[in-house]
Amino acid sequence: MLMRLGRWLRLLGLDVANPKESSDCELMRQARDESRTIITRDKRLFWACLGAGIKCVLIRSSKISDQLMEMSTMGVVLQLDPKRCTLCNSLLLEVASNSSRMWQCPACKKLYWQGGHWEKMERMLESIRSCKERDATQYS
Ligand SMILES: [Zn+2]
Repeated sequence: MLMRLGRWLRLLGLDVANPKESSDCELMRQARDESRTIITRDKRLFWACLGAGIKCVLIRSSKISDQLMEMSTMGVVLQLDPKRCTLCNSLLLEVASNSSRMWQCPACKKLYWQGGHWEKMERMLESIRSCKERDATQYS
């Protein structure tokens, strides 16, 4: 449901597992076994987690920039940090390169580098950060 947000959170260096199963019970079991926080837009799952003592974040927006904003109000730092493969969550290894810095996923072999797409992502995070600051001054 929030796979795109999951990929973005990995770009920020966070350890975000892909759910192994889609049923709520299995998801909650995985969260408990791996001491993870569930991120969901499903209110029913959110309340079930609260009842079971499993940490859960309820995301309200459907737009990725708003979802990232919600995560940032919860303390997630909106700064690109290439540590995790966005597809499989494995820890990346830096590889030698004669131009920009490069990383590779040891599991799925996906390559990461700081190219034009990187600047685009930086700009998006920057605009969310400045939006947040504007809100903060507005309400203080
Ligand atoms: Zn990978």
